[in-house]
Amino acid sequence: MTNEKACRVCRYVSVGAETCPACGSNDLTEQWSGFVIITSVENSELGKILGVKMTGKYAVRIK
Ligand SMILES: [Zn+2]
Repeated sequence: MTNEKACRVCRYVSVGAETCPACGSNDLTEQWSGFVIITSVENSELGKILGVKMTGKYAVRIK
């Protein structure tokens, strides 16, 4: 396992970060599963549903 952590606020998945690069929250958890890759914020229906503001990897399920 890597030390990937998902943000509880916006679901953004980061590696080795103490704060979320997407929203700045420090509420990160290693207890997550499943992810989606958002490659375009403007043209992604999934991105709109998740409310993402930047491209990247997002956790589907956060415990
Ligand atoms: Zn975040």
